[in-house]
Amino acid sequence: MERIEQIKKVLAERFATLELKSDILKAKELRELYGEIPKLPVEERGAFGQAVNVLRIELETMVRDAEASAESASLSSVDVTAPFDINATQPKLLPTSQGTTHPLMQEIERIVDIFGRMGFVSEESREIDDQYHMFETLNFPKGHPARDEWDTFMTVQTDKDGDPLIAPAHTSTMQNRILHKYSANLEKGEPIAAIVPDRTFRNEDLDARHEHTFYQVEGIYVSKNVNAGMLVATLKKFLEEYYGKALEVRVNPFYFPFTEPSFEFALSCPFCEKKGCGICSQSGWIELLGCGMIHPNVLKAADIDPNVYTGFAFGCGVDRLVMMKNDIEDIRHFQSAKLDFLRQF
Ligand SMILES: [Zn+2]
Repeated sequence: MERIEQIKKVLAERFATLELKSDILKAKELRELYGEIPKLPVEERGAFGQAVNVLRIELETMVRDAEASAESASLSSVDVTAPFDINATQPKLLPTSQGTTHPLMQEIERIVDIFGRMGFVSEESREIDDQYHMFETLNFPKGHPARDEWDTFMTVQTDKDGDPLIAPAHTSTMQNRILHKYSANLEKGEPIAAIVPDRTFRNEDLDARHEHTFYQVEGIYVSKNVNAGMLVATLKKFLEEYYGKALEVRVNPFYFPFTEPSFEFALSCPFCEKKGCGICSQSGWIELLGCGMIHPNVLKAADIDPNVYTGFAFGCGVDRLVMMKNDIEDIRHFQSAKLDFLRQF
């Protein structure tokens, strides 16, 4: 019994130095004491075993007390002002059964579904790209003034030509890769038909309509005898499916280096039947996206003969589609992680 008292002193001293107080319950001395019980003469076993149990219960009480006081000791004056419980030992995570898909992701799934039924495969873009794909393959030679119109983020790291890498400012950076990847389709007499719904980045002054990170969906279609009428029909069909109603569309000439001719594509406002409302700025029309016939140089950069094949491409902002559809007034809500916003979807 004296030995148990000694061990108790040793363990109490060690306990004071332990970072994880519950480790004391795994002490080898305690294990050894339990191991001795069956070796004792029968008449001593009862009292010894009881004493060991008492020791273990005392240690357990010490652990519990230490943990309780550690918790109250860490409460600081910050609590008074913190907007959430900074001392919560477990982060308060929502059960997955209560979560919802982000509104942008919900709509991207719908867009992929609609284009999928029209025969378009879906590809991912990149978070970082080189100037070859951002500019060169899209018919912006070095020194082209239109390069400056893309206010991009660049990295300190450079590509093989010594130019800074770029956070893609549009999903068109994927055009060249997609034309290469699916070029075998053309040899088989099938079209190249792909969309790229993904993130893009621009050095914008932020306001309710401008965000540094947003989503675009790029569309590419190449085959023999493709014309601008097919471009307009494809986009009209997509938008009518998306908004679930018949729409009028119109195209106005525009300029992009990578399409010729280039158009700005507008649809009749799906929300006011062209009577004029806040969403269409009372005009009855919404200018939605840029598009055009793929420039011959873009096809050549992907080793596709522009005398044999033609195609169209378009790039559409997803955030804007979703904002209009759900009457969201500020684009910055999407990246805000505000739960009261996200829980509405
Ligand atoms: Zn309207």
